[in-house]
Amino acid sequence: MTTLEHTDIQYLQGVGPVRADLLRKELGIVTYADLLYHFPFRYIDRSTIHTIRDINGEMPYIQLKGRFVALTTQGEGRKKRLTGLFNDGTANIEVVWFNNVNRLKEAIKTGQDYLIFGKPTPYKGRYNIVHPEIDTYAPETTPTGLQGVYNLTEKLHQRGFSSRVLRKLAGNVLRSANFARVQETLPADVMQTYHLMPLQEALRNMHEPENIEALRRAQLRMKFEELYFLQLNILRYIKTASRSQLGFVFSRVGDYFNNFYNNVLQFPLTGAQKRVIKEMRADMRSGKQMNRLLQGDVGSGKTIVAFMTMLIAIDNGYQACLMAPTEILATQHAQTLAELAEPIGVKIALLTGTTSKKQRTAIDEGLRSGELNIIVGTHALIEDTVQFHNLGLAVIDEQHRFGVAQRAKLWHKNSTPPHVLVMTATPIPRTLAMTVYGDLDVSVIDELPPGRKPVTTLLRYDADHPKVYRFVHQQVSLGRQVYIVYPLIEESEKLDLKALEDGFVTVQETFPDFRVAMVHGRMNPAEKEHQMDLFVSGAAQILVATTVIEVGVNVPNASVMVIENAERFGLSQLHQLRGRVGRGADQSFCILMSKPELTRETRHRLTVMTQTNDGFVVAEEDMKLRGPGNMEGTQQSGIAFNLRVANLAQDGQIVQMARQAAEATLRDDPELSSPEGQRLDQRIHTLFNKNEHWSMIS
Ligand code: ADP
Ligand code: MG
Repeated sequence: MTTLEHTDIQYLQGVGPVRADLLRKELGIVTYADLLYHFPFRYIDRSTIHTIRDINGEMPYIQLKGRFVALTTQGEGRKKRLTGLFNDGTANIEVVWFNNVNRLKEAIKTGQDYLIFGKPTPYKGRYNIVHPEIDTYAPETTPTGLQGVYNLTEKLHQRGFSSRVLRKLAGNVLRSANFARVQETLPADVMQTYHLMPLQEALRNMHEPENIEALRRAQLRMKFEELYFLQLNILRYIKTASRSQLGFVFSRVGDYFNNFYNNVLQFPLTGAQKRVIKEMRADMRSGKQMNRLLQGDVGSGKTIVAFMTMLIAIDNGYQACLMAPTEILATQHAQTLAELAEPIGVKIALLTGTTSKKQRTAIDEGLRSGELNIIVGTHALIEDTVQFHNLGLAVIDEQHRFGVAQRAKLWHKNSTPPHVLVMTATPIPRTLAMTVYGDLDVSVIDELPPGRKPVTTLLRYDADHPKVYRFVHQQVSLGRQVYIVYPLIEESEKLDLKALEDGFVTVQETFPDFRVAMVHGRMNPAEKEHQMDLFVSGAAQILVATTVIEVGVNVPNASVMVIENAERFGLSQLHQLRGRVGRGADQSFCILMSKPELTRETRHRLTVMTQTNDGFVVAEEDMKLRGPGNMEGTQQSGIAFNLRVANLAQDGQIVQMARQAAEATLRDDPELSSPEGQRLDQRIHTLFNKNEHWSMIS
């Protein structure tokens, strides 16, 4: 690839300095390789020309050949549109453009043959085509077969760069002397095992597909390659950074664990919980540092698993810590764990930003002497002043709020890093986990404790408020508690806070007989704690809150959650919120309140919520809707999702294949030191070195 990567695009036939400048500014294309790897985002089938007479509702994008018999513009300014009547000798069809109206009006000539390409959609009892692609038709120059459609910017359009121009330039690269020297990037055994198309052939077919079959194979190959190098990079990093790290050997399960298991634990563990604890025991016994991600749906019982893992650390003479993203959550965790710890004599303390000086001194002392077994806290735990006697296990709850860098910081508290257990709040799809948390082994609790009644989720509209409030009243009268959640996002914080406070007043007025608590992130911690206590203790029946309650809060008696403006929440956030109910024996309800007019995507999102309680299904849907780069947890992961061809949401199987292949490669050549290995190493450098974030993955 070296040659392609070092040849400036301006030397390509048909480019020159001016166009090169434009390509660089608009598409970041600087070299031959950049252009070659700027793949079409879609392909159109130009091998068939349909007739207007035969158009029916099932047709995808189709190509028509004919003439414009009329062209008219309507409307003004931004509403301006161009309507054409297109005739192919069998019938007429209406064609509409809303963009580039003036330019098109000028360019299109009646009486000349055109090929148009688009999707016929029913409109007022007939079909029309909105925004078709349009080409003049000339039998000798019009290519047939599959054609790539390229991403272009508005500016490129204005400067006359069309998909056709880009296609032509890509063709020029394909026929250049440089291209002939392109070498295969994948190892021969990988090519063979996975029956992959050779690189040259694949690149050619990406731009100029021979047929649909060849295109599919080319795409598979390019995706595979991309994911293979990604996995190779991740796996190799793990080898050097963590997997090879020596870890404390926790050789025994002792009195604390057994005493707890036999005498304190109130319920039998689920099979999944047992399996996961075993997996972690094996890790911590191995002599290597554990780096494990614990996935489990909301309410699957991750906390107890984490606690029992901590007991193993304590049984082996070490301390453990649990970090939570918010003060509320840390406080709750400390309370929960204290109840479990007290009967077996395990000493536990809470450290947050609001811990008093006096308490703080005592905690510091207890941590340093080793008298404290477990410390629960927020970010305060990673401050340099916090020193442990011997930290053996760090549990990090709700990972997505913690940057990877912070995770790394915990390690520096010992010369040997503690074992690390990361718990996610919301499940994430496996393929994504493999990439985002590629450095972690994954354990999954895929079973809920028995007797859980699935939460009934309903979608209601703002006009239904009176009915919903009647329902709330009825439930509270039965002794239950209710959450009413309002969105609060930074961009509209003032407005949101106002809505929350207005909502609080309305709820108070609607339920004069009930006590209503309110909590939001902008409150001072003492007030927040007081309001939370009101609800947790049962003194307040209704809690009006923002998403500060999103993670971890556990009030089993709460059986109803009303989510206001549910359309403004993401899927995983809704699921996470919903997880706050359905924790007790009662049938629970989650009522999504929404404005009545919704986009298709939003309606889909809310409907998914009403149809499934399975967090893994929700996560898959979420990834499909928003793309992996926008999922919670990926933002701070330090991995840029600048994949060119592969799509983590859709290419799960290829991710797994690539992972396998990368693992095999590293098994044979762990240091990538063979001649082949060195080539791979170089390729990884070219691909990823620009991205400084990679070095942050811990
Ligand atoms: P999450 O995985 O969402 O953190 P928690 O650990 O908070 O879930 O557990 C939710 C509730 O389920 C807690 O009240 C916990 O005590 C209870 N629980 C956990 N494991 C079991 C089990 N095996 N059987 C019954 N209840 C359980
Ligand atoms: Mg939890």
